[in-house]
Amino acid sequence: DAKKAGKNCIKYYNHNMQKEIEQQIEIEYRLNKAFENDEIKVFYQPQISLDGKITGAEALCRWQHPVDGIISPIKFIPIAESSGQIIKLGDIVLEKVCQHIHNWSKNSKFKSIPISVNISVKQFMLPEFIESVEEKIKKYNIKKGMLKFELTESLFLNDLKKVVDKMHKLKEMGISISLDDFGTGFSSLVYLKSLPLSQLKIDRSFVTDIANDENDKAIVNATVAIADSMKLQTIAEGVETVEQKEFLKDIGCTVYQGYLFSKPLPLEEFESYIENY
Ligand code: C2E
Ligand code: MG
Ligand code: MG
Ligand code: MG
Repeated sequence: DAKKAGKNCIKYYNHNMQKEIEQQIEIEYRLNKAFENDEIKVFYQPQISLDGKITGAEALCRWQHPVDGIISPIKFIPIAESSGQIIKLGDIVLEKVCQHIHNWSKNSKFKSIPISVNISVKQFMLPEFIESVEEKIKKYNIKKGMLKFELTESLFLNDLKKVVDKMHKLKEMGISISLDDFGTGFSSLVYLKSLPLSQLKIDRSFVTDIANDENDKAIVNATVAIADSMKLQTIAEGVETVEQKEFLKDIGCTVYQGYLFSKPLPLEEFESYIENY
């Protein structure tokens, strides 16, 4: 009987795998349609400093499907990563963000609100990446300091010389770099020392339980201390409660992003958020 159950298990497993592959192909196909039909939208989540000022915002993509509604990037970014569509997706997002920054450039309320864009490793490692960024910066007349990139630690598994070279070029172009999801990846302190970074983003996984978990508290404390000594700014993501914010403040982290302040907002809502802040 065990044998029988085992057989069924394998069959079930194969069936699931088959389904998963079919689903993946379906999403890939529909994602290409989404690119054609302009269904990729950019939402913006404000970043707030201890003194209540808006210091920036993160651009986060959403798929606005005509039937299924808004689809979270968690559902399609991993598929886009493995299919290579992340390159097209990243290009669409960057183009839109540059367009928005351009539109905001005459509005004084947006003057000190740089926009951070998530850049995937595949996109960053493209030989023509820097050139394509340069092109957009020219096309939309993006002022230095108004555009930032968020990179993840997995980038440092690539040809480090190439990576550092590109980061320096971006810096020269006025694009500062944040290290996203810090602490969850492969970083070693050696990298921090040698990379032209301006900011560490403390991952939400360390923030969630910071009020109760001594380990999380210690990790964030150490991160902020290291960042301070290397003259890097820190920002905590996923701040949902006043309690979390207070703990972060005590530790010395003074810029926050999270639902406590605002969820990521659709373009028009973000614009009125800034106008009325
Ligand atoms: P991320 O870059 O670490 O972005 C932060 C994520 O945390 C966002 O999820 C944001 O909505 C969420 N978040 C912010 N504050 C809170 C909070 O207080 N509570 C909770 N529970 N969540 C919060 P989102 O928008 O679903 O994006 C997920 C991930 O998808 C991003 O993580 C990023 O890695 C990726 N992503 C999003 N847009 C892009 C993009 O345009 N390009 C690339 N390459 N990746 C993107
Ligand atoms: Mg990010
Ligand atoms: Mg992050
Ligand atoms: Mg994260």
